[in-house]
Amino acid sequence: MSAYDTVVIGSGLAGMTSANLLAKLGHKVLLAEHHYNMGGMATWFKRKGGHIMDISLHGFPCGMIKTLRKYWTQDISHRVIQLKNVRFDNPQFSLNTTFDKVDFTYILRERFGILKEVIDDFFLTVCGMNFYDEVVMTTRELFEKYFPGRTDVWRFLMEPITYANGSTLDDPAITYGIVFSNFMDKGVFTYQGGTDHLIKEMKKELLKNGVDIRTHCLVEKIYVGDKTVQGVRINGQDIQCKSVLSNSNLLTTIQELTGEEHFDAEFIKEVKKVRLNNSSCQVYMGIKTGETVPNVGDLLFSSVADEYCTHQILSKDVTSRTFSFYYPETRPGTNRYSIVSSTNARYQDWASLSESQYKKDKHDLEQTTLDALEKYVPGIRKKVDHVEASTPKTFKRYTLHPSGTSFGTKFEGLKISRDIPKQINGLFHAGSVGIIMSGWLGAANYGVIVANETDKFLRQLSPSLVTASA
Ligand SMILES: Cc1cc2nc3c(=O)[nH]c(=O)nc-3n(C[C@H](O)[C@H](O)[C@H](O)COP(=O)(O)OP(=O)(O)OC[C@H]3O[C@@H](n4cnc5c(N)ncnc54)[C@H](O)[C@@H]3O)c2cc1C
Repeated sequence: MSAYDTVVIGSGLAGMTSANLLAKLGHKVLLAEHHYNMGGMATWFKRKGGHIMDISLHGFPCGMIKTLRKYWTQDISHRVIQLKNVRFDNPQFSLNTTFDKVDFTYILRERFGILKEVIDDFFLTVCGMNFYDEVVMTTRELFEKYFPGRTDVWRFLMEPITYANGSTLDDPAITYGIVFSNFMDKGVFTYQGGTDHLIKEMKKELLKNGVDIRTHCLVEKIYVGDKTVQGVRINGQDIQCKSVLSNSNLLTTIQELTGEEHFDAEFIKEVKKVRLNNSSCQVYMGIKTGETVPNVGDLLFSSVADEYCTHQILSKDVTSRTFSFYYPETRPGTNRYSIVSSTNARYQDWASLSESQYKKDKHDLEQTTLDALEKYVPGIRKKVDHVEASTPKTFKRYTLHPSGTSFGTKFEGLKISRDIPKQINGLFHAGSVGIIMSGWLGAANYGVIVANETDKFLRQLSPSLVTASA
């Protein structure tokens, strides 16, 4: 007798969303999370002085409203609000935008002097891209086609997306097009109440629907026999289950938790080609009680680099920073402010440092970030009473992602993730992969897709199972 129909490994947004849906569909689900907190990258931390810092609540597309309503609750979805003031400041241009198609069209025409027909054709092309398209061109080729030589336009269109999903000009254009057009639909949104509120509400819903939630539970092994899932080992204890839905990193799921020996050689050859996406550094700045920050924008893409350049964006010598400003409206009633600066980063640049150099470089990152912020919030050093940095090593420690990858894998990871169930009966993977299925919306939606596939598998095993309505 299996103890569970499904063991979900990891409580990122994909893991939690799939666990919730499977439980609503009538299955017995265990959600095992190694950390003491749930949420994965969708997390927060508290510090003395009443500070609450959000890690990845910077902005998501409006599609999240529907996903939260359909697969979570009305109340959760009602808390999604728009961020209307997105700013760019770099040597090529400084401007404010509502970050939607109407405003982008206006700015491209009036500010950058692009012909209306070209803009319309560009939007028609990117908005028409979808997941099932054959990969034909890169984002660089897409931009060359519509805006040849216009590095200012490339920067305007690309810099925010590089921050949102780690994609570069050399990635397939659909990874750009899908994410960009998701944002262009209606703009950028956030969750009022903060990540702590969201995850608390999700946990309530999971418990209500009967999910067995276990934190501090590291899944060490997925047992496979006869090409079929048999169970898992958690904190040294064996647990039988009919299926496993892993929200752990794609490569970890295959190579460490399951073991390459259980997969076909051809499949493993493709697995070895999967590249992890880049990681991040952040600086969290808590504003003193009673202090205020003027409204200088919700999201600020700032850079001192001459042009958009992926290499420079990833460099440890930081030239580009995305500032997220959390005003009291983020957590109504608290009257508190915080600012988070995010930069894309390479794991190796930080992992290779000695302990003392690591500490020094983290301190330098905090100080140079405050220097950069001074331009937008004069006197910032007098306003903050808590400053702290995280690096790719921090992200690795808390989520177990190899190299602390913030956005899963590059494009090739998507096919591998989709093909796992064809290799092993009852083994599924959901989580940030392929650039497209990453970010809050991508991860949650991928959780839904894979939960439905897991449900189908379980129903084939037990045809008499009564269909619950989700
Ligand atoms: C700095 C930063 C900023 C970001 N900003 C944004 C943003 O503004 N908007 C946006 O949409 N997205 C943003 N993202 C990306 C977004 O947060 C992620 O894509 C998304 O949250 C990933 O969800 P996931 O379900 O794939 O898994 P993850 O969040 O990676 O969660 C995986 C979970 O599995 C657990 N786990 C792993 N292995 C095991 C194991 N063996 N046993 C038990 N548990 C295990 C981990 O502890 C973790 O809880 C950002 C990411 C970072 C790092």
